[in-house]
Amino acid sequence: MASLLVATALITVHAAFAEDAIGDWTYLAVVVGSGVAAWAGARRSGFQIPLTLIALGVTLSAAGDVGWQYFFWTNDEAPNISVADVGWLGSYAAIGLGLLGATRRRSGSRVDRDGVLDVVVVFLAAMVAQWELSLHATVTDTSMTVPVRVVWALYPTFDAVLLALVLRAVFSHRLQGLAAWLVAGGATCWLMSDFAFTLFAADGSAAVVMNVGWMLGAVLLATATFRGRDSIAQVSGASTGATYSGIMVALVPLLLPGGIAVIQHARGAESDPVVLYIVTLMLLGLVFTRAARLLAAETELREAIRTQERYAQALAANSSDASMVVGEDGLILSDAPRLAELTGYAGAPTRGQDAFLLVAPEDLRAARAMFNRCLTLQGQTFDTDLRVRNGLSRNQWLSVRMVNLINDPDVGGVLVNLHDITDRKTVEEALTHQAFHDGLTDLANRALFIDRVEHALRRNFRTDFEAAVLFIDVDGFKTVNDSLGHVAGDVLLKEVAQRLIHAVRPGDTVARLGGDEFAILIEQSPHVRDESEAVAERVLQALKTPIVLESQTVTVSASIGIASSGARTTATSLLRDADVAMYRAKSSGRGQCSVYDPDMRTAAVERLQLETGLVGALDAGQFSLMYQPVVELTTGRIVGFEALLRWNHPTLGVVPPDRFIPVAENSGMIVDIGVWVIQEACATAARWNRDYPTLGNLSMAVNVSARQIASPELVTHVARALATTGLQARSLIVEMTETALIDDTAVATARLHQLRGLGVRLAIDDFGTGYSSLSYLRQFPVDILKIDRSFIDTIDDRGHTPAIVRAMIDLGRTLGLETVAEGIELSVQLDQLREQDCDLGQGYLFSPPLEPVDAELLLVKLAPASALRRQDPPLAST
Ligand code: C2E
Ligand code: MG
Ligand code: MG
Repeated sequence: MASLLVATALITVHAAFAEDAIGDWTYLAVVVGSGVAAWAGARRSGFQIPLTLIALGVTLSAAGDVGWQYFFWTNDEAPNISVADVGWLGSYAAIGLGLLGATRRRSGSRVDRDGVLDVVVVFLAAMVAQWELSLHATVTDTSMTVPVRVVWALYPTFDAVLLALVLRAVFSHRLQGLAAWLVAGGATCWLMSDFAFTLFAADGSAAVVMNVGWMLGAVLLATATFRGRDSIAQVSGASTGATYSGIMVALVPLLLPGGIAVIQHARGAESDPVVLYIVTLMLLGLVFTRAARLLAAETELREAIRTQERYAQALAANSSDASMVVGEDGLILSDAPRLAELTGYAGAPTRGQDAFLLVAPEDLRAARAMFNRCLTLQGQTFDTDLRVRNGLSRNQWLSVRMVNLINDPDVGGVLVNLHDITDRKTVEEALTHQAFHDGLTDLANRALFIDRVEHALRRNFRTDFEAAVLFIDVDGFKTVNDSLGHVAGDVLLKEVAQRLIHAVRPGDTVARLGGDEFAILIEQSPHVRDESEAVAERVLQALKTPIVLESQTVTVSASIGIASSGARTTATSLLRDADVAMYRAKSSGRGQCSVYDPDMRTAAVERLQLETGLVGALDAGQFSLMYQPVVELTTGRIVGFEALLRWNHPTLGVVPPDRFIPVAENSGMIVDIGVWVIQEACATAARWNRDYPTLGNLSMAVNVSARQIASPELVTHVARALATTGLQARSLIVEMTETALIDDTAVATARLHQLRGLGVRLAIDDFGTGYSSLSYLRQFPVDILKIDRSFIDTIDDRGHTPAIVRAMIDLGRTLGLETVAEGIELSVQLDQLREQDCDLGQGYLFSPPLEPVDAELLLVKLAPASALRRQDPPLAST
């Protein structure tokens, strides 16, 4: 800054004392000082090539000035040409090169044709001006030697080149900031002074002005080297399109030939029209070329934009997504060509229509809510999945992303992007279905069923309706599965599932809870009890039709328990109650249905208690047998005993068989218990027969249940008991009820024949209470008929025997069977039965079931003392 002030001061002094030596010295001081300063600036830039060249130019110019001054002082006259000219001309070359370097393209090796054209145009224009104004005169001035003329002609030529480069640099924006203006300004100062020199060299009046121009030029150029570091480094290599300044540079030179003619005319000088015309033509050619190139560049740019547009369109058209712009009112503002394609629905909305026409009715509310939220939040993205209205039966899902770009002037709406996610949704739905459905029957599974029941109970809480659950267990499924295999079992379950579905109303839920257990939920019915019993009846009816399995035909039935909801019912308690009721139905025989009542629950709890208690009871020796005598009615003689099982429960006391045998039967424990009973009863009977031979051959009756008959081991067990105890086979009577035989008649018949084969006698117990059927009696090889107590009860004090009892006794006689009357309590009953020729009897009238010791006491009493084999009978003293 200080040096600039000094330079300004020196220039002022020079202007004041131009004629004196001070003028010369100040001039030299300014130009030499500028040279030195320029180098300092170049150095600061790290000797960047353009700045170094400018510094060189300023220095060369100063060297020229110093040389010229030296000649002037020594010879007192300046020569026409001298070494000084080398410095001056060299300075133009250096500065020109510096400008070229600064404006060179940074990237790409392509020649900057536009730049060359611009430079040539300006150069040509400047040259013609120079030519007309002075050059022509200089070149043709024969008063001067040729070398002088050549050197003098070089100045305007170099000026023209420099001018062209400066203009090019400034107008092409290659030089930016202050540096550009400093360089341009400096060069212009020099050019102006040169120009003035050409015009007014002859008269010395303008000398001061010219000197000032040269000095100023040197100062500005030197300053530029300080300023140039940053701005030159920032020069961008980007190509420029058609700018106004570019057009100016190209066109303005056309004004020159005419302008020159006008100036020459004003000066009263002649101008050469031919030269001007030729130059005009040349300029025209150049300008045209430049304009054509600008046009080409413009077209190229436009094409590039169009390519970009087409690229974007191609992307949009071929993407799997669809997008559209939707206005605040929900109307589609843009084209939405992919929409119809994406949804496969010709009726999909298009530009100008309501975008929500696309959304399926079930998702419409959610879609609108999200859109409204989106409208309130600028620029935020919202995502959701929606079902669409597509005219197809299957659901189609789109993932929807929307972003509010209403304030974006290029968009002006909500940008909505849609993507088909139906495949993903289908898989998700399939997985959910799998999680809540039974794989075999496709019915609801336990989890879904519980969920449905919970829903129903919650709904019923608000309405007055009740819900009911039917718990269904397929009877005899295990037999089918064991005998025909799992494949047949699966077919059976599927068929049962189908029949259940057809037996219910459309709103009811049918589920498979596992194995052969099914359940039905009946809800939203004001008469749920009647309705559920009707459904149970329909289910039982539907199962009556035989099912064909791999060439085999089977008939299954079901045991059904019904429970309906009360005030405090939960899903699990409702299901459990139905299960309890089902258990009751099952224990009363196949194909039954029972409705839950709270007593059943007590029974179920007790059953559970018994079931746990039974485990290990046999090993703990908690079982014992009581013996009830069987009497010959005509003589009153004891012919045998019936063994009756007792369980001495550690806390419940003596549990009667009616209570625990069904439980043991259900859990399968009856088989092991039965083995013990047979063994124990046989052992007792064998001992008594050995010890009291005079009482004849006493028989021993044991009871067996359905489960025991089904087991093939029964025969082995009986045979082993007979063998190990030595009891005669004829003395053993195996008793079974009709119900125990009916479950699988084929197996039962075979089993009875096997037992019969051992020599054992067979009795039908509780005759008349089960599925009494003459055909069964003929089919089963039985020996004894035990008429159930309930019939004997009907014989009252007045001595009347009902026809049914008489018929039973007759039947036994006809079939050649022995008849036993159970539960004789009154002597009148005994009399009547005797009268009807009933063979044997049992009952409290004769004796209740006795402990083994008491039974033996009875035997001791009856047997003649001499006949006793024992030396000291244990109870002989009584
Ligand atoms: P059941 O075989 O019909 O046995 C006769 C039942 O009638 C016995 O009941 C007996 O105590 C009872 N009773 C006998 N005379 C009279 C009478 O005059 N009046 C009345 N009210 N009852 C009389 P208990 O001992 O309670 O046995 C019940 C049932 O348990 C038996 O009926 C039998 O079916 C079954 N049971 C008993 N022991 C066994 C066993 O070891 N194995 C199997 N599987 N079942 C058994
Ligand atoms: Mg019995
Ligand atoms: Mg009985």
